[in-house]
Order: sequence, then structure tokens, then C-alpha cells
Amino acid sequence: MTTPQNARPAAPQGPAPAPAVAPDTADAGARARAATTAPATEAAVTIPPAPHENASRVAPGSVPSNVRKTSGSPRDGTPGTPLLSVRGLSVRFRMRGGRHIAAVADAGFDLAQGECLALVGESGCGKSVLASALLGLLPGNARTAGSALFGDVDLLTAGERTLARTVRGRRIGLVPQSPAAHLTPVRTVGAQLEETLRELTGTQKHDVRRAARAAAERAAFPVDHLDRYPHELSGGLAQRAATALALVGDAPLLLADEPTTGLDRDLVDRTVDELRRHVDEGHALLMITHDLAAAERIADRVAVMYAGRIVELADAARFFGTPGPQHPYARGLLNALPERAFTPIPGMPPELGDLPPGCAFAARCTHATDACAAQPHFADGVACHHPPAEERARA
Ligand code: SF4
Repeated sequence: MTTPQNARPAAPQGPAPAPAVAPDTADAGARARAATTAPATEAAVTIPPAPHENASRVAPGSVPSNVRKTSGSPRDGTPGTPLLSVRGLSVRFRMRGGRHIAAVADAGFDLAQGECLALVGESGCGKSVLASALLGLLPGNARTAGSALFGDVDLLTAGERTLARTVRGRRIGLVPQSPAAHLTPVRTVGAQLEETLRELTGTQKHDVRRAARAAAERAAFPVDHLDRYPHELSGGLAQRAATALALVGDAPLLLADEPTTGLDRDLVDRTVDELRRHVDEGHALLMITHDLAAAERIADRVAVMYAGRIVELADAARFFGTPGPQHPYARGLLNALPERAFTPIPGMPPELGDLPPGCAFAARCTHATDACAAQPHFADGVACHHPPAEERARA
């Protein structure tokens, strides 16, 4: 049963494809750290600049820092130029015995500068695998298909040298799911921030201590803890340290993988608001989360994943307000919230290695019919044979 807890209805639900996800999480931290310290000498590709480098690339309507946009933003439905364009993204893991796990299937979305897309769904639905694919951080037994265009770079086919020297850390900042694996264990947080500042921003030695303190404060990391090593931090503090490191490079695209895990609600709000401030400055943010309250607070659009597929892609105001989600699973997620119907979704998600041929949600769906034995196509923002009647009437 899906049991909502503390405004996190989709928390530890279905069986996650642990063999596929766990190894690359650790790899993500190691390779992302390496990327932030590598010299940026490779220039054979054209990648969108950071917002501060070219104001004309910033989405129309972006406003100075600390000011939430009120018009002309993606929140108001104004489309921006895609910074990232993902089409047909699929990830399959080859397991022992020839078994395959389809962790992500045919995912597609655009993400513009000055826009936040929240990718939501239960644990194990493929969200983090999708993020790892975009960063080239999948383990060796993974195979990808489709495209993920970022400037003129296809993130799915770019070489490790390009990704390490020009993309990770510099053009795509990662707020990792596992900060303990991301932080260097033998160096203090302050030392890591200072090194990253020198490498990514050219901050001079005489100013780097002050800049490190400012970077810590941006992520609500207490400056009197800068001399601590990662093992001396709580999970929440480690998360904030990793967030501070991710923001240093002023990358045009931020990829936040469960950035509020382990934080109490006040710190969730503070972290989310800080990330939103970066969006309002013109950065793009792909935020992966199972915290729907955080998604509602920050997102312009919401993509809902179930069993490796994006089943709904919607404007956040419509999704969380009126008319609400179209897909039965997405409606179930919202209805599971304590402040809503507080009604769990019956049943469990299917194993990604043993998906049914048709709609993967059919066994839990009260609207299922014989038609649902066939895979529903994604059309008009939803992949369902029977979206709500009012939506059909509107179409
Ligand atoms: S396709 Fe059918 S089973 Fe799947 S969510 Fe829609 S109505 Fe339910």
C-alpha cells in the first residue's frame, strides 16, 4: 500500500531496481567531483553559456535575484527557448543471466532557461536513472537510446572527456541524491568550497575564504561548520554542503536529485526557495523529487513518472490546482497527501524488470478497461487510454 507520510506520499514505495541504481550513485559523486577540478581546455563543442555570461539567453521576464517572477515566466505559460531537449530517452540495464531492466522508457521533455521542471514519482520509478543518463554517469551495463540535446551536445552520446571537462560542474550543476558519496571525505567543507570556487570562478586567494562563506550561506549551510569534515555532518548538513558546491559554478542548468532529503520542513522550504531564486535569475532546474509539497513550491511544470515512463507532463498551477492531474496515478499521488484526501494508492508498483505489456498502472487503476492491455501513447500531456471526461471534452 502507498502510505502518505508527512506530505511525502510517494516515499519508499515500490521495490527500487537497486542493482541498476546503486552503483551509479557513487560513480556520480566521484566523477562530478573530478569534473569540478579538471581544467576547462576542451572547446570543440558549443554549449549554452551561464546566464551571467549572456543575458540575451535568459528567458524573457527574468528578474533580479531575490525577486520571484510575477509575469512573463514559464509559470505563466510563456514558453522559453529549450536549453535542454530530451526525446525518446530510454535506459536499459543488462543484468546477470541476460535479464534486462527497462529503467526509463521513451522519456521526452524540454526545459527552458528560467524554468523549473519537477520530475516526480515513487522511489524506484526511474527518476534518478534518467538524471544519471543526462550526466553520463550510468554504470557500464546500461544502454541508452534517444537524444538529450544541450546546446549542440547530445548528452547521451558525448564522450566522457567532453562531459567531464565542459559539462559536469561547469554547465550542469548537480545537487546529488547521496551527498555523503559526493563530498570528499578527507577534506573540510570549507576547503572543498574554496577549491571549487578557485577552479570554477577564478576567485583569488585573498578573497576565497569570504566567497566560501557566502557560498555556504546561499545553501543555508552554517558558516561555523565550514571547518568540519563530511563525516562530522548530519545528513541534512551534508545535503546543504553538496547544494552549496553545486551552486558555485553558476551553471545554466541545475540538476537536483532529491535535494531536500533528510531536511526538516523549514529547511526544505529554504533550500527550495534558494533553488527557485536561481531559476528566477535565468537558470534552468530539473528537480527530481518525491516530495510533492516541495515540487508545488518550486515548479513551473511537473512531469510524473511511473514504472520508467513519463505518464503526465503538466503546468504546475493546473496540476496542483484546477483542473488537477489527468493521469489516474498522478491523481492518486495528490490524493494520498494528508492535506488532501489522505487516501493511499492501492497495490504496489511493478518490478521494472517484469513490466506488463500494456499500461503498467493497470493493476492499481480503478479506470482500467480491456483497452489498457495495450501501452497508451503519450498525447496532449498524458499517457492514458481514459483521461478524465472533462479533459476529453476540452480536447
Ligand atoms: S491507461 Fe488504463 S490502466 Fe492505465 S492509467 Fe489509464 S485508465 Fe488506468
